[in-house]
Amino acid sequence: MSAPARVPASLTRAWEAAVAFAFPLACAACERLLAAHESGLVCGACWNDCRRLPAPQCDRCGHPQPPGVTTCQWCAHLPPYVRAVRSWCWMGEGGGGRIVHALKYRGWHGVAEGMAERLARLDWPPDVRRERALVVPVPLAPDRLRARGFNQAEALAVSVAARWGIPARADVIQRTRGGTRAESQTRLTPTDRAGNVKGCFVSPDFVRAELRGAHVIVVDDVVTTAATLNACAEALVAAGVRIVSYVTFGRARAIRDRFAS
Ligand SMILES: [Zn+2]
Ligand SMILES: [Zn+2]
Repeated sequence: MSAPARVPASLTRAWEAAVAFAFPLACAACERLLAAHESGLVCGACWNDCRRLPAPQCDRCGHPQPPGVTTCQWCAHLPPYVRAVRSWCWMGEGGGGRIVHALKYRGWHGVAEGMAERLARLDWPPDVRRERALVVPVPLAPDRLRARGFNQAEALAVSVAARWGIPARADVIQRTRGGTRAESQTRLTPTDRAGNVKGCFVSPDFVRAELRGAHVIVVDDVVTTAATLNACAEALVAAGVRIVSYVTFGRARAIRDRFAS
């Protein structure tokens, strides 16, 4: 049997151009029509409108730090086994919020690819780059998962892990209480947020051998107080993980709202 005839690349390109002309795509974040040269689901203006965390930053928590400052107020609120935290942009201003909204609430799962591409490029201390062995998403509460149909943190974790060439596992942290939800915490004080999620996560016995001694990266779309990430890290360490780092696309800017212990 002869091999199927190949379609010439020029014809493929012509067909793609015709489809793009007939069905122009709109940006998932701002709904502006995408230009022909813009790949992905989000327009260049929205990506450029993301407010990056400025340099210099604390080597550990990634928080912007004025030159000459040697003690970081944010690091004090991280458990000792948390090695590093990195985020791509501030939340609450610019394009970052629109992009997260498109992913979480408007069903644009593919937006996670562009976000993960940027997360994978973030700068880490050399030991984190060398040691990171597994990428783990913050689990979504079951009722949120049913309503949304997918876990946005898992979509990011899978894509970031693939870009780093290491595995992602969504089953190594499980929620023990369904009623507590990170997204429902917006009206709580930082201290209440920490209490709200403390003990909310557990790592099941069947993953313990794999986790023992590992450096695990926990992924979420946004960090506000780090209470949820800290609770996840606590569960991982209880299961034998040695070191944990966090990576998020967005970071809340307000001082009193971050890294509550
Ligand atoms: Zn846009
Ligand atoms: Zn710090």
